[in-house]
Amino acid sequence: MLVDRKAPVTSRLYVVEILKGLLITMKNMLFSRNVTIQYPEERRNYSDRLRGLHYIKAVNGVENCTACMLCPTVCPAECIHIEAGERPDKEKFPIKFEIDILRCCFCGMCEEACPKDAIKLSTIYEMSQSKRVVYDKEMLLVQRGNR
Ligand code: SF4
Ligand code: SF4
Repeated sequence: MLVDRKAPVTSRLYVVEILKGLLITMKNMLFSRNVTIQYPEERRNYSDRLRGLHYIKAVNGVENCTACMLCPTVCPAECIHIEAGERPDKEKFPIKFEIDILRCCFCGMCEEACPKDAIKLSTIYEMSQSKRVVYDKEMLLVQRGNR
């Protein structure tokens, strides 16, 4: 280790520097505002723009989705799977609509691409599961919306 012989003795002994460091630590411990929270007892207010769990918008029980396939096309994680079908009240609708939530990176591209404002991302961010979860149409039709 190189020793700077011209430096004052106090700085060469590091005692003053150590004390200065401890002073900064004590100052932060005693007077700084906590940045951590006691989750889950305490919750933060996140931005309304937070992209969380998806849902499909429906009006009077009829989903807005027309199975146009734009969202699975733009999805970079390829985690949306749709099977289209026809029924008397609707020319095209999704018989099957699944999102593999473990693959999703919550980029919001599906929401941006949707011409029918059908697929939305809610602000729900608590999705921990003990097993792999694929959200099917019934699960996605549960309105989680504040958007
Ligand atoms: S948020 Fe992004 S990754 Fe997730 S389903 Fe939509 S497009 Fe795919
Ligand atoms: S982009 Fe919208 S309308 Fe098209 S399949 Fe996806 S959710 Fe349905």
